[in-house]
Amino acid sequence: MLEELETRLKSRRIRPTAMRLLVLEILQKQTAAVSLQDLEAAFVKADKVTIYRTLKTFEEKGLVHCIEDGTGIRKYALCEEGCVCAPEDVHVHFYCKGCKETYCLPTSKVPAVPMPERFRKVEANLLVQGFCSLCDG
Ligand SMILES: [Zn+2]
Ligand SMILES: [Zn+2]
Ligand SMILES: [Zn+2]
Repeated sequence: MLEELETRLKSRRIRPTAMRLLVLEILQKQTAAVSLQDLEAAFVKADKVTIYRTLKTFEEKGLVHCIEDGTGIRKYALCEEGCVCAPEDVHVHFYCKGCKETYCLPTSKVPAVPMPERFRKVEANLLVQGFCSLCDG
């Protein structure tokens, strides 16, 4: 298990430290995206700044991606293997209006949007809102 975590960090050129391994372990257990606050709650000791820096490193190295789900709270989820977070890699996100969780939909890619000549695309977000299977009933 630990070895698996280390390999995952190393595959993204992230030096495995105790803190990074812990954060990755927590992220791997999530079914929904987590906010910085969620992560802080999972730690008794580690301070905010350290957790934030760890997430930033993960984001810069393409291990996690940040999600804007319209709540104003930045959420993070693990990237798929081989993701380079390019516009053509980006998948749709789903925000559940019931449990207020945000989910990655890795099999649903954001469709290519034709750009007029004077515009250059840098990133694209597509958020679908609705109810997850647990809340729809
Ligand atoms: Zn990514
Ligand atoms: Zn839900
Ligand atoms: Zn995602």
